[in-house]
Amino acid sequence: MDDRIVSSLSREDDQSVETSLRPRTLREYVGQTEVKESLSIYIQAALARHEPLDHILLYGPPGLGKTTLAAIVAAEMGQNIRITSGPAIEKPGDLAAMLSNLSEGDVLFIDEIHRLSRAVEEVLYPAMEDFAIDIMIGKGPTARSLRVPVPRFTLIGATTRFGMLSAPLRDRFGIVYRLELYTPEELSAIVTRSAGLLKVKQAEPEGMLEIARRSRGTPRIANRMLRRARDYADVMNDGVLSARMADEALLMNGVDGLGLDKTDRAMLASMMDKFGGGPVGLDTLAATTGEDPGTIESVYEPYLMQIGFIMRTPRGRICTPAAWSYMKREAPKAVAADDGTEQTRMEL
Ligand code: ADP
Repeated sequence: MDDRIVSSLSREDDQSVETSLRPRTLREYVGQTEVKESLSIYIQAALARHEPLDHILLYGPPGLGKTTLAAIVAAEMGQNIRITSGPAIEKPGDLAAMLSNLSEGDVLFIDEIHRLSRAVEEVLYPAMEDFAIDIMIGKGPTARSLRVPVPRFTLIGATTRFGMLSAPLRDRFGIVYRLELYTPEELSAIVTRSAGLLKVKQAEPEGMLEIARRSRGTPRIANRMLRRARDYADVMNDGVLSARMADEALLMNGVDGLGLDKTDRAMLASMMDKFGGGPVGLDTLAATTGEDPGTIESVYEPYLMQIGFIMRTPRGRICTPAAWSYMKREAPKAVAADDGTEQTRMEL
């Protein structure tokens, strides 16, 4: 799955390029207008008060710009950022050491924060609330805890699985934002900017829009597709990245006009052929497709839901009439007659 061009997860070959393509200021950060407007106010207020910004939680599918936004917040606050992730912090002592080594006002970014262990999380609570950590001194009956101050910092947590965050942790964030999938116009602006940085010889607007339309609402995928299409256009069209070049390059990589690839089609086919289009429970779907339930939920589904191919109902996932016609299969009568309005939509 990881070698899919449409995977929203970061891969090794993305990493150095991603760093160079990251916008550095809120002005350069495309889309997410409401988040930017509100952040900008909180940043100005915190700067005026000479205080660190409140702790921020960012959630949404991978590749939407959570890490980028955290770095921008630190830069706009004029502070440094330390980057780590939930699984990287193994022991409570690791986090305690990290917190003690921060400088006043630093931003601490914890990616995949839902994967912190409970013991580590407990170190975070007093740190977030009172800028202090409790250290145990001694062992056995004479052990006592000593409260030690840590520099005032801003925690920015990111997660693709909001529902997996514990309530006490969630409640300690003053600011919570959900990042949304991007529109084709926004993605087109992102790849146009990236094309400049990647020195694409001639990035035609239609070529940029073609990539944008097929990148599943996700900047990381858009930038990766741009790199593939650039190579293709360099070899086939003297560097002119037109809509036709983008289309050919993406088809060659197994990505169709909607941005779906064979894994998506296999999942839809399995829902239709084995379960009559659903409802199918997440775990059943995971077992039949050989994918991890969390990956299906946070990586594949958001886009399939956005384009109206899958709906979540209390009884499981169902394929919509649009999905049946895309897969060139005849929908069972009940589905064909149902335009979806009867179904109870569940929030992401
Ligand atoms: P996440 O942390 O949510 O997985 P990242 O912040 O690593 O996502 O973003 C992935 C890539 O997408 C980055 O290289 C960045 O250049 C690009 N990107 C993400 N959001 C934006 C945006 N709003 N404007 C421009 N580029 C973006």
